[in-house]
Amino acid sequence: MTLLLELSGITKAYGGAPALSDLSLAVGAGEYLSILGPSGSGKSTMLRVVAGFETPDDGDVRLEGRSILSMPAHERGIGFVFQGFALFPHMTVFDNVAYGLRHRSRGPVADEAEIRRRVGEALELLGLTGLGGRAVSQISGGQKQRVALARTLVTDPKIVLLDEPLGALDANLRERMMIELKRIQAQLGGTFLHVTGNEQEALAMGHRTAVLDHGRIAEISPPQTLYNRPGSVRVARFLNCYNIFEGIVGDGAFRFAEAALPLPGDTASGAAAYCIRADKVTVAEETDPAAPGEAALPGRFIASEYSGARVTYLFDVAGSRPVEVEYHLSHRRPGSFDAGRRYALRWPAADALVFREGRR
Ligand code: ADP
Repeated sequence: MTLLLELSGITKAYGGAPALSDLSLAVGAGEYLSILGPSGSGKSTMLRVVAGFETPDDGDVRLEGRSILSMPAHERGIGFVFQGFALFPHMTVFDNVAYGLRHRSRGPVADEAEIRRRVGEALELLGLTGLGGRAVSQISGGQKQRVALARTLVTDPKIVLLDEPLGALDANLRERMMIELKRIQAQLGGTFLHVTGNEQEALAMGHRTAVLDHGRIAEISPPQTLYNRPGSVRVARFLNCYNIFEGIVGDGAFRFAEAALPLPGDTASGAAAYCIRADKVTVAEETDPAAPGEAALPGRFIASEYSGARVTYLFDVAGSRPVEVEYHLSHRRPGSFDAGRRYALRWPAADALVFREGRR
């Protein structure tokens, strides 16, 4: 992978409060890198530093091997797709997309035939053919998102920065645009840096996914690795799909409240966090014996939550926050549990992750 963008030791504070702390990150040419971080973790600041809307206090940003810190934003050849789309409301779709070409400082295009051709190509790529003459006020939210993307892509940027690009869309549209964005990136072979606070989006979008925590990268891995084997309890927590118990490893088991859970491997004794993904847990009758290699915990059924093709069942477990059990309806039939009754929650012990540093 050829290195395209490199951030090294970036620090940026506002009024003494660090937004980015010694952040380093390398993005390969043609890579789709998604960045997951909770609100306030520094996602927008990082993008603004790369784009040149913000100057870091320390560190360097290199594009194609050259420092771009002293280069003004409009000369960097970086495309930026803003959260709220930032379209010109009084202009047509065509003029919005053409704007970037007409006004860019790196080789503005004046030839109207070329503008028509390139805007036409961008509209086609985004599935907007035929909408060029519409006013931006006459198109849907999803279409506005596409126009914003077309306006950026038409300028042929070296890298496209996307700041929570799907945040303004409803769930259905968000899923469709996720597929579209991947297709567009693959078709163009461009480099995309996509930040989001939504873990499903981050895991679905990237060749690699980075987790941003308090202004630095906590982990960067292929999404499958991150999802299956997060490297720390903090990252497991951010992914929002793990049940996490806090307790102690001792005498060959992980212990919290009244529970003793078998360990997935050798773990040194001491304070630890035990993580099991919600979709690894099954629900059995309390009287059914556990199979060899299974961990089991008693839990009292509280409630279920449906969201699309998934159901999440909540169980009250002594000494823990409610435990989530997730059924993907494509894999499992929905369960039917009685509120207030005790069941046995089970999972293969080998699927658990135990972190000794866990209490951070
Ligand atoms: P995110 O995009 O992940 O929500 P931001 O990069 O917007 O995070 O913000 C990171 C931190 O920096 C937050 O604590 C935020 O309040 C602070 N911050 C960001 N921009 C400014 C600014 N222009 N002035 C003061 N504080 C800011």
